[in-house]
Amino acid sequence: MRGRFVIVVGPSGAGKGTLVRYVLEAVPAISYAQSFVTRGMRPGEVNGEMYHFVSQEEFDKKIQQGDFLEWAEFGGNYYGTALSSVMPELEKGNIILKEVEVQGARQILEKIPRKSLFIIFIHAGSWGALEKRIRGRAPISEEEVAKRKGRYDDEMSFIQKADVIIENNDGSIEVAKKKIQEAVESLL
Ligand code: 5GP
Repeated sequence: MRGRFVIVVGPSGAGKGTLVRYVLEAVPAISYAQSFVTRGMRPGEVNGEMYHFVSQEEFDKKIQQGDFLEWAEFGGNYYGTALSSVMPELEKGNIILKEVEVQGARQILEKIPRKSLFIIFIHAGSWGALEKRIRGRAPISEEEVAKRKGRYDDEMSFIQKADVIIENNDGSIEVAKKKIQEAVESLL
């Protein structure tokens, strides 16, 4: 495998999505490995861009057929990366990028040789700072906040595996954009 699979990980609410969208535009030589997902489309999302929106039945069928490199349940929805959107690209020597939550990232580490991987961890400060951000973004129940805290700790444990750690605290998005661009360009 001559290519490189760049995975972007970090706690939910750390701004991974913004940084991923930015770097895909800033570095046209890389492409995104899309997800299959069972959740509904959000305003502004386009089917086939970052996500393929599918039914639970279609998703289950893909699991049974062994189509996924990794898949995980997150917040009651299922997310997965098709083998076909990663392996052929790595064989061709391409650089592909993908944002995943931590369960998927662990599966990827088990299946893809470490030297073919590049792990970018987006760090958004303490739980306290993140909690403020999450609460400010949309109405959220206390039960959900507690669940997020558990997930935060789980996601943070992945920081030890990172090749690059990018700080994205409030007000540092422009610096974070430059850093992710530099990290990805260093692989070209
Ligand atoms: P959202 O629903 O907010 O777009 O994404 C929720 C979480 O799922 C994010 O942490 C995102 O990184 C993760 N995610 C998106 N696509 C995939 C995927 O294909 N596999 C896994 N394991 N996680 C994904």
